Amino acid sequence: MKKYDVVVIGAGPGGYVTAIRCAQLGLSTACVESWINDEGKPALGGTCLNVGCIPSKALLDSSHHFHHIKHQSNDHGITVTGVSMDVNKMVSRKAKIVKTLTQGISGLFKKNKIDWLRGQAKILSNKEVEISPTHETHDEKTVVEANHIIIATGSVPTRIPPASVDDKLIVDSTGALKFNEVPRRLGVIGAGVIGLELGSVWNRLGSEVTVLEALPDFLSLVDRQVAKEAEKSLRGQGLDIRLGAKVTGTGSNNREVTINYDDAEGKQQITVDKLIVAVGRSPNTAGLGADECGLELDQRGFIVVDDHCNTNLENVYAVGDVVRGPMLAHKASEEGVAIAERIAGKPGHMNYETIPWVIYTWPEIAWVGRTEEQLKADGVEYRVGSFPFMATGRAKAMGEASGFVKILGDAKTDRVLGIHIFGPNASELIAEAVVTMEFDGSTEDLARTIHAHPTLSEAMHEAALAVDNRTIHI
Ligand code: FAD
Ligand code: NAD
Repeated sequence: MKKYDVVVIGAGPGGYVTAIRCAQLGLSTACVESWINDEGKPALGGTCLNVGCIPSKALLDSSHHFHHIKHQSNDHGITVTGVSMDVNKMVSRKAKIVKTLTQGISGLFKKNKIDWLRGQAKILSNKEVEISPTHETHDEKTVVEANHIIIATGSVPTRIPPASVDDKLIVDSTGALKFNEVPRRLGVIGAGVIGLELGSVWNRLGSEVTVLEALPDFLSLVDRQVAKEAEKSLRGQGLDIRLGAKVTGTGSNNREVTINYDDAEGKQQITVDKLIVAVGRSPNTAGLGADECGLELDQRGFIVVDDHCNTNLENVYAVGDVVRGPMLAHKASEEGVAIAERIAGKPGHMNYETIPWVIYTWPEIAWVGRTEEQLKADGVEYRVGSFPFMATGRAKAMGEASGFVKILGDAKTDRVLGIHIFGPNASELIAEAVVTMEFDGSTEDLARTIHAHPTLSEAMHEAALAVDNRTIHI
């Protein structure tokens, strides 16, 4: 039986990054992965690379270019006529990007001498993992021995009985990444991250998009001021967002889907050409053998871990979407790196207070730390500084002047407690906020930091100055 220092189960951003870090630290490492891609071939990269972060951003970028050329070129004096979108080309471009990146991980595995064990892993004990074939590459079960097992099996789309996915007219996020034409009417259940990102893609390309959200509040986890502005902006772009809408049933023929839902005004019905179900994701422990090996799961199916990602089994750890905390690729990777370093006898560290969030609508939404609402609930006294992009030269020059940066600082110590951005390139701007919080920086630190002119980051600088009422450009 082959023996490794570490066997990682799953090769998404949790698993593959963990495996690479383990190998870099001199640990003999194998990674078991069962994914079979659309070409019927085994693939690394997990949800993130195959059907998540990367393909969705590829479509967001393509649709953003299309929309921008159509609606904003004229402002720049550029006359463009006959603009059209070849959806199949856009989707193949996305597929090519996915292929390059997933193959890239295979190259990184080779470079780091990580054994990729193709198949479905089942944990037999805290020292043994069984691998069953999911592909023609081998047809017998094998068992490998491990001193440490790291589970990174990720998550799968949550299903709801009133809208069962048929992969034709009713799809989940994976299906919504490969429509071969722009649906004239698109329904989305769930105004969460996926609903808004993929709803934006197809809305920009011309779909009439209706988003049904069960909760009465829009983006309930997001800072209220940001959520309010984002809701206004997305509605302005044409997304028909219906809050407090509880879907009770769907019916489809071969052409369209009828959705029944209840809202404050009673029973409602809409008909669409395609329906995306995006109501959250659930931890994936199918086939892992949790019951048999005694691995503890919580009531919602997440693997129970402590603050350091240790499970209840000795030398078995779990990271990423399959454990508590935000379902984000960078959270999964950093948890894995911390474990790899601790296994190698180094001080692995994961700061859950400074995990950035980004929602890739346009303008983008990004934040780190606590919202005003959370600070109030925690009884923390704070000061606020905010600054609109409208008052920065670069945003004006770009023609992208909506949104703002908002900084929350501790009223006594001035330490930054949260930064919230709604605006152009918020996904990149948030990095400065994360670094500031990681170094326990204050709003004064940001205010004294020299920001290049003209850049969008000047809005961050001015928001920090605003905490003390000393903005320059307002
Ligand atoms: P996964 O990426 O889900 O990987 C788990 C892997 O384990 C899979 O490859 C699976 O095949 C494998 N596996 C499972 N069970 C077994 C088994 N028993 N044996 C062998 N292999 C197994 N996050 C962001 O941070 N930014 C984004 O922009 C973003 N966009 C997203 C867009 C979409 C449409 C979706 C669906 C998700 C998005 N996410 C994004 C979330 C992100 O994809 C996840 O948080 C991330 O992939 C979690 O990583 P993971 O390694 O925990 O799990
Ligand atoms: P989500 O939790 O962000 O949103 C789901 C939404 O569906 C919620 O607003 C919820 O209230 C609503 N909902 C639930 N049941 C419903 C019902 N029956 N009817 C109507 N609405 C209902 O989940 P998601 O959008 O599916 O995304 C899953 C996870 O994937 C996210 O939590 C996020 O962590 C990750 N993700 C991240 C990014 C990013 O980082 N940019 C992008 C996509 C996905």
